[in-house]
Amino acid sequence: MARLTILEFPDPRLRTRAEPVRSFDAAVQRLIADMLETMYAAPGIGLAATQVNVHRALLVMDTSQDKSQAQVFINPEILSRDGVEVSEEGCLSVPSVFEEIERAARVRVRAQNPDGGVFERDLEGIDAVCLQHEMDHLAGKLFVDYLSNLRRERIRRKLEKEQKERREHPGSGLATPARAAARVI
Ligand code: ZN
Repeated sequence: MARLTILEFPDPRLRTRAEPVRSFDAAVQRLIADMLETMYAAPGIGLAATQVNVHRALLVMDTSQDKSQAQVFINPEILSRDGVEVSEEGCLSVPSVFEEIERAARVRVRAQNPDGGVFERDLEGIDAVCLQHEMDHLAGKLFVDYLSNLRRERIRRKLEKEQKERREHPGSGLATPARAAARVI
């Protein structure tokens, strides 16, 4: 297994729309394993292939406390949504930024598992938020797109400044705030 590099906003590759996964071969199994390792190490509770510069419709998540319940969704499609929930979200591709975002409170999703089998699942709470956030990534969309242009510009400038500092002073990475891990998707 290997840890993959996570693209960060405003990297234009994050705007790529993912293509469907057609073959459930060894390469896909390796990608899933690498994405899970990358997500747990970050740490985060969700990761879309788009974020590691692989433009296939595949996402992983694990919202359990003890990181024992990995969920894999391949070619996901939301069948129905219900209710409204506003919660604070962060994103591994938009480090150290947390914003309140409105999402459907409950969703029913159809997807394929790593063997290609089709399943349907009802999600709510953080699972529903996480899935919708990751499916946005697969469509080339980021949670900052829900904010005002002014706010998004401020975030872009802040991150570009931090990225420049990291390039000029490698190893001086910013510590992730403690509250981050629970909501970074
Ligand atoms: Zn994200």
